[in-house]
Amino acid sequence: MPRSTADHALDLLRDTFGHPAFRGEQAAIVERVAEGGDALVLMPTGGGKSLCYQLPAMLRDGCGIVVSPLIALMQDQVEGLRQLGVRAASLNSSLDAQAAADVERQWLEGDLDLLYVAPERLLGGRMLDLVGRAHERGRIALFAIDEAHCVSQWGHDFRPEYRQLTVLHERWPDVPRIALTATADAPTRREIVERLALEDARQFVSSFDRPNIRYRVVHKDGAGSRQLLDFLRGHEGESGIVYAFSRKRVEAIAEQLVEAGVHALPYHAGLPAETRAANQRHFLQADGVVMVATIAFGMGIDKPDVRFVAHVDLPKSVEGYYQETGRAGRDGGPAEAWLSYGLGDVVNLRALIDRGEASDERKHLERNKLDALLGYCESTGCRRQALLGWFGEDYAGAHGGGCGNCDNCLEPPETWDGTEAARKALSCVYRSGQRFGAGHLIDILTGKDTDKVRQFGHDTLSTWAIGRDLDARQWRGVFRQLVASGLLEADAERYNALRLTASSGAVLRGERRLSFRHEPEARRRGRTHRSSMIEADLDAEALGRFHALREWRAAVAKEQNVPAYVIFHDSTLRAIAEAAPGNEGALAEIPGIGARKLERYAGDLLDHLARLD
Ligand code: ADP
Ligand code: ZN
Repeated sequence: MPRSTADHALDLLRDTFGHPAFRGEQAAIVERVAEGGDALVLMPTGGGKSLCYQLPAMLRDGCGIVVSPLIALMQDQVEGLRQLGVRAASLNSSLDAQAAADVERQWLEGDLDLLYVAPERLLGGRMLDLVGRAHERGRIALFAIDEAHCVSQWGHDFRPEYRQLTVLHERWPDVPRIALTATADAPTRREIVERLALEDARQFVSSFDRPNIRYRVVHKDGAGSRQLLDFLRGHEGESGIVYAFSRKRVEAIAEQLVEAGVHALPYHAGLPAETRAANQRHFLQADGVVMVATIAFGMGIDKPDVRFVAHVDLPKSVEGYYQETGRAGRDGGPAEAWLSYGLGDVVNLRALIDRGEASDERKHLERNKLDALLGYCESTGCRRQALLGWFGEDYAGAHGGGCGNCDNCLEPPETWDGTEAARKALSCVYRSGQRFGAGHLIDILTGKDTDKVRQFGHDTLSTWAIGRDLDARQWRGVFRQLVASGLLEADAERYNALRLTASSGAVLRGERRLSFRHEPEARRRGRTHRSSMIEADLDAEALGRFHALREWRAAVAKEQNVPAYVIFHDSTLRAIAEAAPGNEGALAEIPGIGARKLERYAGDLLDHLARLD
């Protein structure tokens, strides 16, 4: 009986990539494209999109042409593939003429399985001629269009050249195409189909759940970077990204972290191009670098062992937040998405939208996006359920409840009846003329004798000192939740001032009851020192081996001038450390070690392990 495409694919997956089995829809996608069909693949970041075009390209005759928007991304992919023994190359502006000519010759002579190319280069007349010549010789296996959402003018990654990619299909209709993206929403999906003429493509839509990412939201306790440092203490020696709102914030936070002994680097659009490139390279190549960045840092960062993404300011939308946090844990190992926010963030972002230049329609849209994000932050239910619900997935329905891997599932928040507190707060806003920020309002409620209180005679208000049952921290929580739920709003004219909204009346009149989340004590979990997540549950011996293996990997990576994860992923090193294999056969059993890597590293690795005992 002839062996099927599926059998061949599985052999390649095991022998070359060292993975024991396909994930999710990978097998179906590979089969579809390997047999000549078109596909549109929607998979979350880290879901395993690359294999979906790499394997069919290797299974079919000729070379797979991969359109990819970023040079850094291409170089990483090519490097990784070469390590596995796959014949891959890229054509981009970083190559000199001679190197480019070499790659072209290899391709036309049939010595390449995968060729990565930037869209503008592919669409240049010369390159299209080459594709034509390769096609005549039967040397085009498929066209893969990575980051296909770049075709959408409404997204933030819009690349006009992507729209001209239909030319591939017009000229060579017999070559299968596969478009891939991690951007899920339905309008973008429709736009991709239309703009890339993928009407006949089969759509493979995966769940966007990232079960290995633990979501956590904390409330700023006014202690600046200390909260962040506490969080980072649980991730010592691990790579991660800290997202901040502005260039200034990025600079300041990076500086504070460096002072505290964290290996942190800044990244934002205001830095010279060389500094940015150097910092990015360093982040990709070295172990345990923390990148403090604006959202200018992101697309194309496919470093698999990013162990955490921390937001120290509120992101602008749930989609943005999900995409940013998705950069953690692509290797499937435990990872954390941590967000800290406070009243100030809400007030700032609201004011920024209100005072902005955008059209009313656009402002309305932005307000709705912010509200959705605030709903997420203040939610007392499962975070994952809330996030996936936003993308139209019914997590609870599919899994019968919460996820067990978010703060609200792990430590269910306590709530309290906040109706009376809310009435006091709103009434205090009203009595003092809707002209003051939360700090002063809290002083009035708690009866604090300040210059400002005396200056305005606020100690004579009926709301003076009526809130002594709560402390300032608890009141901040009340105000934050009132603003988040639209019962108070920031006055766009007067920075920070809070005023009532159309919905406040019902609460003031006692017609609406409110439930608030308890504000946990600050530093509740800061003290205990946790080791990093990837090391969790390793016994002392395995931990020693793991550290030694990382040192070995760092040396090998340095020698070859490639990022450490190209040699082996953390999860593979961890598995080796746990199993302590004594011979090549045992080493080959470990997921992530394919034939080529076994051949290349087994001797060295086994020697190294033997010397440890
Ligand atoms: P994406 O492009 O969707 O973000 P990648 O293709 O970079 O994801 O894959 C993410 C990670 O998952 C990579 O480290 C890859 O080696 C790993 N991976 C992909 N498919 C499998 C599989 N079938 N089994 C184990 N690991 C896999
Ligand atoms: Zn949960």
